[in-house]
Amino acid sequence: MRIHNTLTGEKEEFRPIKEGEVRIYVCGPTVYDHSHIGHAKTFVFYDSLVRYLKFKGYDVKYVRNITDVDDKMIKKAKEEGITIQELAEKYIDSFTEDMKSLNCILPDVQPRATAHIPEMIEVIQALIDKGYAYVSNGDVYFSVRKFPEYGKLSKQRIEDLEAGARVEPGEKKRDPLDFALWKSSKEGEPSWPSPWGRGRPGWHIECSVMSMKYLGEQIDIHGGATDLIFPHHENEIAQSEAYTGKAPFCRYWVHTGHLRVREEKMSKSLGNVITVKDLLKRGYDPEALRLYLLSAHYRSQMNFSEDGLRSTQETLNRIRETLLKLRSASPSKEDDEELIGEILRIKEKFFEALDDDFNTPRALSEFHEFVKLVNRELPRIGERTKEEMEKFFSVFSKIFGVLEKEYEPSVSDLLDSLIKIRSKLREKKLYEISDWIRERLRQMGMGESAKRNIRRVKR
Ligand SMILES: [Zn+2]
Repeated sequence: MRIHNTLTGEKEEFRPIKEGEVRIYVCGPTVYDHSHIGHAKTFVFYDSLVRYLKFKGYDVKYVRNITDVDDKMIKKAKEEGITIQELAEKYIDSFTEDMKSLNCILPDVQPRATAHIPEMIEVIQALIDKGYAYVSNGDVYFSVRKFPEYGKLSKQRIEDLEAGARVEPGEKKRDPLDFALWKSSKEGEPSWPSPWGRGRPGWHIECSVMSMKYLGEQIDIHGGATDLIFPHHENEIAQSEAYTGKAPFCRYWVHTGHLRVREEKMSKSLGNVITVKDLLKRGYDPEALRLYLLSAHYRSQMNFSEDGLRSTQETLNRIRETLLKLRSASPSKEDDEELIGEILRIKEKFFEALDDDFNTPRALSEFHEFVKLVNRELPRIGERTKEEMEKFFSVFSKIFGVLEKEYEPSVSDLLDSLIKIRSKLREKKLYEISDWIRERLRQMGMGESAKRNIRRVKR
């Protein structure tokens, strides 16, 4: 399998540190709001990647952290008039619910930053002792110039970074390039005791510490969205490699492209943030959302469109219907070796696509070829052919995380069909039957408002 490594800028053959084992760390959510569909794109991708690695027989250990203390959380807790802990609980629950709706497998460990303060203090102290960090009036900073390889992930030289670096008000850095490992707390902020006074950790240190604690000093894959490359992941490398003296901290740095809405970055100020809950509440099927998010290559920037999501929904329905037909088919014919060969060839191409930097759009198009073939050949299949077909469906389901629930057409789909039938009848001037349908719907409490709801979902 080849995978694109941000560190080298190239697609590389994937070779884990320990044969047969994969240790993967993904930067998880900061729990101060509901997850939007951009978060979903990132986490669904890593979920499918983990599923695929497991499918290939690797023993995978998957860690995804939860950032439950930071500036945004302090601000949001004040706005909502609740404590930071209450805020964290509320949005951890919300995140867990979204991940479950989207069929994301639970990571092996989901460590929370605030449960690892002593470990962070220990690493920060060691960095001070080794001369990589310094205390400044209750804060602790990492001295970037002490780590000559700084910039190797984001491909920036220290000289280039100097131009953009600045000291924010309240910071007590010696050099604008330095970043905080520990921040002294202000009045009313959450704080923990430390050798440098009460305070809280900077954001970057938690991922170095929790990754090392649960996966070891060097890991195979570290992931997140592209906006984490700098400074977050660059800083993680500096802290971790300075602390252990071992490089690389991580072998393959994998980053997902952003999801944009109306060609713009999702942001509160533009009012274009779409949460996972928004879409599901409006009747979209979580498996369709999942498949839609995987229909673009993970590194590409994807522009979200409801038309796209709706067409994925139709595709998914077709796949489900084909699977149902296949399951109930009686394979009474002689097996055709050529046909079995064709199925296996498509399956091979499906895997080739996934092995090529997890190219899901290409894998999906191969799978669609296969679905077409099933529909075409179904009346002529034998026992073994049916088995091979079912196997391919099951592989697809395992890796893409769809077709996991027993499929039943929803009430809204049935209702939608009835409404379509009614308008066809009216076109043919068969008013008597069309009025009878309308009357029946009304009697069942599915009058005008139900129809409007359906239209809202379908449009
Ligand atoms: Zn992180």
